[in-house]
Amino acid sequence: MKTAGRGNWSIAVHGGAGSMERATTDPAQDRTARAGLSAALEAAIAILQTGGHALDAVEAAVRVLEDDTQFNAGRGSVFTAEGRIECDAAIMEGNNRMAGAVAGVRSTRNPIVLARAVMEQSPHVFLAGSGADGFARAFGIEAASPDWFETPERRRQLEELLADPEAPFDLGMKYGTVGAVARDTSGHVAAATSTGGLTGKKWGRVGDSPIIGAGTYADDRAGAISCTGAGEYFIRLSVAHEIAARTRLGVEDMQAATNALIDELSILGGKGGVIFAPAIGTAGWAFNTPGMYRGRADSSGLRQVAIYADE
Ligand code: ASP
Repeated sequence: MKTAGRGNWSIAVHGGAGSMERATTDPAQDRTARAGLSAALEAAIAILQTGGHALDAVEAAVRVLEDDTQFNAGRGSVFTAEGRIECDAAIMEGNNRMAGAVAGVRSTRNPIVLARAVMEQSPHVFLAGSGADGFARAFGIEAASPDWFETPERRRQLEELLADPEAPFDLGMKYGTVGAVARDTSGHVAAATSTGGLTGKKWGRVGDSPIIGAGTYADDRAGAISCTGAGEYFIRLSVAHEIAARTRLGVEDMQAATNALIDELSILGGKGGVIFAPAIGTAGWAFNTPGMYRGRADSSGLRQVAIYADE
């Protein structure tokens, strides 16, 4: 479905890519995941259909997903090997390519709100660790105690991982990172991504999500991109920026560029998925895992929420 750029809006959200298959997914989990994605879409739609900004829409959608314990971002994030929660997030607007990112945040309720504050209220792009939480406190951004982020299911997943030190690092192959990409009625695009990273991560490991150009990118001349998956591969390929560059330079349209990067990821052995909102046309995605929690909507009336590859 094609819609022109200016005057129309388009949005996509994701809640992570992974090994979700229809036959093995608990129906209740299927329902609650879809409801969570719909709630995020609705928050963004309310902004976009009244002429609001893509930046506000992606922030709103990601906040909903961060507060939803089903997804690995904000509340409900996975645990590090030391039993802590360290969140990463990034936001970018395509108009002037302003960007803000944070890594290893431990006491800020919505890391995406902090990433936006870094973008708008500091001269910097990327803050990490206690300094990032300190910036949040200095700028009055809502705090949360470490136990607010914790859920029994994530604790169980860490214990399962620690019980089998020989297990592959990405046990279960479920990446629950959340993200949103949008184009507003003025033709501006924005991207936002937020994650707890990988269960059992150590040594201050940071994935692609908060790295501008790897897991998150936005450029009005091309579109907006948010990624999920094995972050190390997305960093090595600069996936988000390369999709934007190929589109901007007219090598391919954004769907073809996204497909090409997923193919390249597959060749290297990486798993994951991408959502995009192009400067012209409707938002879409590609992934090489059995499923990806995802949804999209646009001003022509499109409303779609999906989990499995065949949807
Ligand atoms: N990409 C994230 C990371 O590597 C993980 C995810 O997508 O769930 O930190």
